[in-house]
Amino acid sequence: MWITGATTLCGIVGDPIEHSLSPMMHNVAFETSGLNFVYVPFRLPRGAAEIGARAMRTLGIRGLNVTVPHKVDIMRFLDQVEPSAMRIGAVNTIVSKDGYLCGHNTDAPGFLRGLELHGIEVKDKEVVVLGAGGAARAVAFSLLDRGARLTVLNRNVVKAASLAEDVAVATGARIMHDVLADTALETRLASASLLVNATTGGMHPHWNETPCPRRYLRRDLAVCDIVYNPPQTRLLKDAAASGAVVVNGVEMLVQQGALAFQLWTGTAAPVDVMRSIVCRELGHGSH
Ligand code: NAP
Repeated sequence: MWITGATTLCGIVGDPIEHSLSPMMHNVAFETSGLNFVYVPFRLPRGAAEIGARAMRTLGIRGLNVTVPHKVDIMRFLDQVEPSAMRIGAVNTIVSKDGYLCGHNTDAPGFLRGLELHGIEVKDKEVVVLGAGGAARAVAFSLLDRGARLTVLNRNVVKAASLAEDVAVATGARIMHDVLADTALETRLASASLLVNATTGGMHPHWNETPCPRRYLRRDLAVCDIVYNPPQTRLLKDAAASGAVVVNGVEMLVQQGALAFQLWTGTAAPVDVMRSIVCRELGHGSH
């Protein structure tokens, strides 16, 4: 479809942005759905979040995804932030209704959807989350909403403590936290039924690293790695070799994108098409 005077503009702001798979995923989705929309990557340097929000209003941009380093900074320049995104403390999707900007967090429900598709139930189950960065926050809040009992392990234990405190203030729930090291992995994973990696450990180009040694994995410990490049991280390969159910980060990427698509267009996203284009780009073949 050609870009015309009536084309609706969406995009993504972040820095760096060249590596993003979202432009391809969304442009293929718009084309497949017969929508006169286009999705453009915008490199927006750190500290320029306000300019990004203003540009969205001025240029009549319908929707933006927001990535590193703006997910937190941009919130104060929006007209409204959805309560769930406010609690997480980060926005990854903005919808403009005639210049009125509303921020959402689709990472959290996107992550949960990936678990659901693999039949993983977390209510009243013990779940160990590795990491205390932006993605770990979305993961932690979404798991708590589903009734999981949570432990957060992070290299920098001060960040893990701060996440636990934010959770306690926002929800009243108490979560355990500890340093990401062998002793904590051994004791915390013994009674857990799900392990989620929300660190960058094992991400390209460190594909041979893992945040959790294989000796702590077992058949009845499902593993979700939200790293999507590579789609099959060393952690997931080790878990699959133990006979466990595994969920890769491609599913979360696709599901958060599908939710953003629906917010911008008002129509359901072609999820299968989006998943296959991402898998193809990552050299993974059919998912
Ligand atoms: P971030 O805010 O920079 O946080 C990075 C986290 O990784 C911190 O907890 C850090 O621990 C930890 N870490 C870094 N290197 C490590 C290592 N070698 N071993 C153990 N821990 C390590 O990053 P983020 O935005 O949360 O993203 C985290 C990962 O999630 C990235 O791989 C990103 O691509 C992925 N992600 C995927 C999706 C998706 O849709 N699938 C969405 C969002 C993010 P310290 O605090 O101790 O440094």
